[in-house]
Amino acid sequence: MIKRLCSLPLEDLGFAPNLEADFIKNPASLLEAMKLPEQKDTTGPPSSEIFDLCQGSSFTFPYKDDQTRTVRLKRVIFRSNSIIGRGTTVIRVECACCNCPPARCDWKEKKLVLKMSFPSKTRVSERTFMDRCKELAQGEYAWVSNHLPDLIWSFDIPFRDGSPQANLGEKFKDYEMRVMRGVILEELKPLSSLKTARECAQVFYDIVQCEFSIYIKRSHFSSNGLSISGHHWVWKYPRILHRDISQGNIMVREKNGKKYGVLNDWDLAIWLDDKRDGPTSQFRTGTKPYMAHEQHSVEWKGPHRYRHDLESIFYVMLLLVCLYSRPDEKLRRYKNQSYQYQEWHQSDDRSLYLEKHHTIRADDWEPPVTTFFFGFLLWLSRLQDSFRSGFIDRGNFHRAVRKTAQLDRSHTQMNFYDEDTLGGHLSYEGIVSIVHVFEEEELETRGREWQLHLDNLRQKQVG
Ligand SMILES: [Zn+2]
Repeated sequence: MIKRLCSLPLEDLGFAPNLEADFIKNPASLLEAMKLPEQKDTTGPPSSEIFDLCQGSSFTFPYKDDQTRTVRLKRVIFRSNSIIGRGTTVIRVECACCNCPPARCDWKEKKLVLKMSFPSKTRVSERTFMDRCKELAQGEYAWVSNHLPDLIWSFDIPFRDGSPQANLGEKFKDYEMRVMRGVILEELKPLSSLKTARECAQVFYDIVQCEFSIYIKRSHFSSNGLSISGHHWVWKYPRILHRDISQGNIMVREKNGKKYGVLNDWDLAIWLDDKRDGPTSQFRTGTKPYMAHEQHSVEWKGPHRYRHDLESIFYVMLLLVCLYSRPDEKLRRYKNQSYQYQEWHQSDDRSLYLEKHHTIRADDWEPPVTTFFFGFLLWLSRLQDSFRSGFIDRGNFHRAVRKTAQLDRSHTQMNFYDEDTLGGHLSYEGIVSIVHVFEEEELETRGREWQLHLDNLRQKQVG
């Protein structure tokens, strides 16, 4: 086996093709990686050691008009907990300017990262989703772009013919063929870069606004909501579900001195109207601590809905404000002391289901919010209340349906129940009315139609 492995080309060993790293030419440099951390003077995150070896390497990939472009790799800023060379990696890069006209590099002013992942060959790329959003985010809706990642370039590198992967694909019909997918995008800041609770609140409100403008479904609006701006609803919403909202995917963009919440990483997104699921792409996607509670249940058979993403945002908020003393500082653990929700990062589906079920449906719920984030207590309680009432409603509805069916078999038609908003409890208006104010002060509402809507609400209150 070792002999066979040695004869494989680098890409078949899991290295990116066209990576010119020192350790490939000079394996002795790998010895450096074997040293214990205290023997080295590195400052990077400890998890990125292998790829830190690639610092300073150059990487060439396909570019416009059958050309190639080369970047120099800098620090690894994220690596998913997965097989090395197969999980997602995000590396800071700069243009190596091999083909750039002298002093006229179009990437020169940009802070860029390269994200490498290995999705199924048939998976729609993040770029396709974002192109569609950008295409529609014009004029009055241009604000949406502030809350989406800026994908500058993307490319796929398929595994070559005769590679072990291609051979497996030939032998086994249901073998999932993958590609190496690279995306060059503008570097965003993490949530930990925020300074105040209010900034965090604005970022979460931004995510809710952006997310909704991408999913929107007319039925989410009351007749009242529709009447305000009539023709504005002609805007064709892209109708995309993100499906993987986590703390790591909520980022911050700084532009002209202002901060905007950005919903990043659309790798697992789907078109809302596309009911075909790829052969192996599962509906049960996401990052465990933040997945909606139903998704942990073996009985849950999908589909993924808008309210599942909303539930994820709720958990991101909950875990942040209960486990962090500041955006960049986790609560310190003393001896055997543990904090509520802390174990969510290690729990299995069964315990997460029970824990979350309890959280979302508890009658008397008060999360242990830290002092810094105290303003979030009201948000969380009100959101939890919406979920709780929604699920109670849903239970009642289904009970009624069963009863009717038992009483009269011919009469099984019942009123429609809006699963997406749990019978209206999670309507966009409801959510916005909770999160557009933080500590009694209004946050910035980005979309014009919602500014109008809120104005209307206020007038009603005054009246
Ligand atoms: Zn350049």
